[in-house]
Amino acid sequence: MKCNENWLMQNLLVIFFVSQLFSTSSLLESPASSSSSSAEPSQETLVEDFFICRSCGHDVSLSNFVLEKYSPLALGSSNQTLSTGREAIVQEVQNTLGIRFKIIVVEKAYCAKVESWSLLHSWFPGYAWKLCVCPKCRTHLGWMFEPLETATSDRYFPTEKGFYALISSNIISEGYVNSLLMREKALRNN
Ligand SMILES: [Zn+2]
Repeated sequence: MKCNENWLMQNLLVIFFVSQLFSTSSLLESPASSSSSSAEPSQETLVEDFFICRSCGHDVSLSNFVLEKYSPLALGSSNQTLSTGREAIVQEVQNTLGIRFKIIVVEKAYCAKVESWSLLHSWFPGYAWKLCVCPKCRTHLGWMFEPLETATSDRYFPTEKGFYALISSNIISEGYVNSLLMREKALRNN
Protein backbone atom coordinates (compact mmCIF):
# COMPACT_ATOMS: atom_id res chain seq x y z
CA MET A 1 0.00 0.00 0.00
CA LYS A 2 2.82 2.30 0.97
CA CYS A 3 4.49 1.48 -2.30
CA ASN A 4 1.36 2.39 -4.25
CA GLU A 5 1.17 5.72 -2.47
CA ASN A 6 4.73 6.51 -3.47
CA TRP A 7 3.98 5.53 -7.01
CA LEU A 8 0.92 7.77 -7.02
CA MET A 9 2.85 10.70 -5.55
CA GLN A 10 5.57 10.34 -8.16
CA ASN A 11 3.04 10.32 -10.95
CA LEU A 12 1.25 13.33 -9.52
CA LEU A 13 4.56 15.15 -9.43
CA VAL A 14 5.21 14.22 -13.06
CA ILE A 15 1.74 15.41 -14.03
CA PHE A 16 2.30 18.65 -12.11
CA PHE A 17 5.64 19.22 -13.83
CA VAL A 18 4.24 18.52 -17.29
CA SER A 19 1.24 20.78 -16.67
CA GLN A 20 3.65 23.54 -15.56
CA LEU A 21 5.68 23.09 -18.69
CA PHE A 22 2.63 23.28 -20.91
CA SER A 23 0.89 26.09 -19.03
CA THR A 24 0.14 29.45 -20.67
CA SER A 25 3.66 30.76 -20.26
CA SER A 26 5.21 27.55 -21.49
CA LEU A 27 7.47 26.97 -24.42
CA LEU A 28 4.81 25.16 -26.35
CA GLU A 29 2.18 27.88 -26.31
CA SER A 30 0.90 28.20 -29.83
CA PRO A 31 1.64 31.55 -31.48
CA ALA A 32 -1.97 31.52 -32.68
CA SER A 33 -3.27 31.59 -29.13
CA SER A 34 -1.12 34.47 -27.95
CA SER A 35 -2.57 37.96 -28.04
CA SER A 36 0.17 39.54 -30.11
CA SER A 37 0.43 38.83 -33.79
CA SER A 38 3.31 36.42 -34.17
CA ALA A 39 5.28 35.65 -37.28
CA GLU A 40 3.15 32.64 -38.15
CA PRO A 41 -0.26 33.38 -36.63
CA SER A 42 -2.16 30.74 -38.57
CA GLN A 43 0.12 27.87 -37.61
CA GLU A 44 0.11 25.66 -34.57
CA THR A 45 3.51 25.23 -32.98
CA LEU A 46 4.91 21.98 -34.28
CA VAL A 47 7.99 21.14 -32.31
CA GLU A 48 10.94 21.01 -34.68
CA ASP A 49 13.78 20.50 -32.25
CA PHE A 50 14.61 21.27 -28.66
CA PHE A 51 17.51 23.38 -27.51
CA ILE A 52 18.75 21.77 -24.34
CA CYS A 53 21.21 22.85 -21.65
CA ARG A 54 24.61 21.52 -22.60
CA SER A 55 25.45 20.87 -18.94
CA CYS A 56 22.40 18.94 -17.78
CA GLY A 57 20.13 18.31 -20.79
CA HIS A 58 17.20 20.35 -19.46
CA ASP A 59 14.87 21.77 -22.14
CA VAL A 60 15.68 25.42 -22.79
CA SER A 61 13.86 26.44 -25.95
CA LEU A 62 12.69 25.28 -29.37
CA SER A 63 14.33 25.84 -32.71
CA ASN A 64 10.90 27.13 -33.80
CA PHE A 65 11.45 30.19 -31.63
CA VAL A 66 14.59 31.47 -33.32
CA LEU A 67 14.19 35.19 -34.03
CA GLU A 68 15.86 37.47 -36.53
CA LYS A 69 16.64 40.23 -34.07
CA TYR A 70 19.90 42.10 -34.55
CA SER A 71 21.83 43.90 -31.87
CA PRO A 72 23.22 47.20 -33.19
CA LEU A 73 26.15 46.60 -30.84
CA ALA A 74 27.05 43.16 -32.19
CA LEU A 75 30.64 42.79 -33.35
CA GLY A 76 29.57 40.46 -36.12
CA SER A 77 27.07 37.81 -37.10
CA SER A 78 26.91 34.59 -39.05
CA ASN A 79 24.28 32.07 -40.05
CA GLN A 80 24.14 28.63 -38.49
CA THR A 81 22.07 25.84 -40.00
CA LEU A 82 20.28 23.91 -37.30
CA SER A 83 19.65 20.16 -37.46
CA THR A 84 16.14 20.93 -38.70
CA GLY A 85 17.50 22.92 -41.63
CA ARG A 86 16.31 26.18 -40.09
CA GLU A 87 18.79 29.05 -40.20
CA ALA A 88 19.73 30.82 -36.98
CA ILE A 89 21.63 34.06 -36.72
CA VAL A 90 24.57 33.83 -34.37
CA GLN A 91 25.75 37.25 -33.21
CA GLU A 92 28.91 38.03 -31.32
CA VAL A 93 28.52 40.50 -28.49
CA GLN A 94 30.94 41.77 -25.87
CA ASN A 95 30.29 42.78 -22.29
CA THR A 96 31.92 45.62 -20.40
CA LEU A 97 34.62 43.25 -19.12
CA GLY A 98 35.63 42.46 -22.69
CA ILE A 99 34.17 38.94 -22.59
CA ARG A 100 32.65 37.88 -25.88
CA PHE A 101 29.62 35.65 -26.34
CA LYS A 102 28.00 34.14 -29.40
CA ILE A 103 24.25 34.45 -28.99
CA ILE A 104 21.12 33.15 -30.68
CA VAL A 105 17.95 35.19 -30.12
CA VAL A 106 14.74 33.28 -29.41
CA GLU A 107 11.17 34.29 -28.71
CA LYS A 108 10.82 32.10 -25.60
CA ALA A 109 13.06 30.10 -23.32
CA TYR A 110 12.94 28.30 -20.05
CA CYS A 111 15.02 30.14 -17.43
CA ALA A 112 15.10 30.15 -13.65
CA LYS A 113 13.36 32.97 -11.80
CA VAL A 114 15.89 35.69 -11.06
CA GLU A 115 15.55 39.16 -9.56
CA SER A 116 15.54 42.67 -11.04
CA TRP A 117 16.19 43.96 -14.55
CA SER A 118 19.30 45.93 -15.43
CA LEU A 119 19.14 49.01 -17.60
CA LEU A 120 22.88 49.34 -18.04
CA HIS A 121 24.90 48.40 -21.14
CA SER A 122 22.07 46.57 -22.92
CA TRP A 123 23.04 45.01 -26.24
CA PHE A 124 19.51 45.82 -27.38
CA PRO A 125 18.85 49.53 -26.79
CA GLY A 126 15.36 50.13 -25.41
CA TYR A 127 15.40 46.79 -23.58
CA ALA A 128 16.36 45.97 -20.01
CA TRP A 129 18.03 42.64 -19.33
CA LYS A 130 18.62 40.00 -16.70
CA LEU A 131 20.47 36.71 -16.65
CA CYS A 132 18.92 33.49 -17.95
CA VAL A 133 20.20 30.55 -15.93
CA CYS A 134 19.21 26.92 -16.35
CA PRO A 135 16.28 26.09 -14.04
CA LYS A 136 17.88 22.74 -13.25
CA CYS A 137 21.67 23.18 -12.99
CA ARG A 138 21.95 27.01 -12.82
CA THR A 139 24.38 27.18 -15.76
CA HIS A 140 24.42 30.63 -17.32
CA LEU A 141 22.47 30.14 -20.54
CA GLY A 142 22.11 33.74 -21.68
CA TRP A 143 19.93 36.76 -20.99
CA MET A 144 16.30 37.80 -21.00
CA PHE A 145 15.28 41.11 -22.57
CA GLU A 146 12.19 43.20 -21.91
CA PRO A 147 11.16 46.66 -23.19
CA LEU A 148 12.17 49.33 -20.63
CA GLU A 149 8.59 50.41 -19.96
CA THR A 150 7.44 46.92 -18.93
CA ALA A 151 10.63 45.76 -17.19
CA THR A 152 9.14 46.17 -13.73
CA SER A 153 10.46 44.49 -10.59
CA ASP A 154 7.39 42.25 -10.30
CA ARG A 155 7.95 40.83 -13.80
CA TYR A 156 10.19 37.80 -13.66
CA PHE A 157 10.08 36.80 -17.31
CA PRO A 158 9.80 38.73 -20.58
CA THR A 159 6.39 39.53 -22.02
CA GLU A 160 5.56 38.82 -25.65
CA LYS A 161 7.41 42.02 -26.52
CA GLY A 162 10.57 40.71 -24.93
CA PHE A 163 12.89 37.92 -26.01
CA TYR A 164 15.86 35.79 -24.94
CA ALA A 165 19.46 35.66 -26.13
CA LEU A 166 21.02 32.25 -25.57
CA ILE A 167 24.77 31.57 -25.54
CA SER A 168 25.23 29.21 -28.46
CA SER A 169 28.05 27.25 -26.78
CA ASN A 170 25.94 26.57 -23.67
CA ILE A 171 23.01 25.01 -25.51
CA ILE A 172 22.84 22.10 -27.90
CA SER A 173 20.04 20.87 -30.11
CA GLU A 174 18.43 17.59 -29.17
CA GLY A 175 18.34 16.58 -32.84
CA TYR A 176 22.09 16.98 -32.98
CA VAL A 177 22.56 14.90 -29.82
CA ASN A 178 20.31 12.18 -31.25
CA SER A 179 22.20 12.18 -34.54
CA LEU A 180 25.45 11.66 -32.61
CA LEU A 181 23.91 8.79 -30.64
CA MET A 182 22.59 7.20 -33.83
CA ARG A 183 26.02 7.51 -35.42
CA GLU A 184 27.68 5.98 -32.38
CA LYS A 185 25.17 3.12 -32.41
CA ALA A 186 25.75 2.54 -36.12
CA LEU A 187 29.51 2.42 -35.55
CA ARG A 188 29.11 -0.01 -32.67
CA ASN A 189 26.93 -2.29 -34.77
CA ASN A 190 29.49 -2.45 -37.56
ZN1 LIG B 1 21.22 22.81 -17.03
